[in-house]
Amino acid sequence: LDYASYLKGWIRTVPDWPHEGVMFRDITPLLQNPKSFRVLIDLFVHRYMSEQVDLIAGLDARGFIIGSVLAYELNVGFVPIRKKGKLPFTTVAEEYVLEYGNASVEMHTDACKQGDRVVLIDDLVATGGTMIAGYKLLKKLGAEVLEAAAIIDLPELGGSKLVRNEGLPLFTVCEFE
Ligand code: 5GP
Repeated sequence: LDYASYLKGWIRTVPDWPHEGVMFRDITPLLQNPKSFRVLIDLFVHRYMSEQVDLIAGLDARGFIIGSVLAYELNVGFVPIRKKGKLPFTTVAEEYVLEYGNASVEMHTDACKQGDRVVLIDDLVATGGTMIAGYKLLKKLGAEVLEAAAIIDLPELGGSKLVRNEGLPLFTVCEFE
């Protein structure tokens, strides 16, 4: 069994969502099926279980689903990187450019400490903007980001290349054109 193509088979493509011309890659079928969900998490667990990891950081919102289960399995803590305005305590923020306008992500200032070894998780890398913003936030707090990981890479959008050019190793399970 080839895990990458098995998992890719559980991702649903929804055309013209959230707007015309977009092929949205929907991971809800993969999460809903107990076997594919387990295969996915096990893949990440096996990748990081022998590494010295202190913390999993998950990106809003699908990065929370994968990241929290992974953190639990690795017996390390989980921290959320949230969209602007959601976190109650003092935060650090990082702005990034979207197709239309700007966005920003935030972390609590005490979410990690100097030298913490962190793996950064999201579901998908498109332009790479979200992953890079998360990386910059973690670096602001002094973390050492070992790797970024996602289920899906859209290589034609060039984001995975940008992430790696930032000096952040990136692991993805499968690709869509
Ligand atoms: P980027 O910042 O790389 O352009 O976009 C990645 C972010 O947008 C991720 O947080 C991801 O959840 C979301 N995203 C963009 N397009 C898709 C898509 O087709 N499917 C899913 N599941 N998420 C997407």
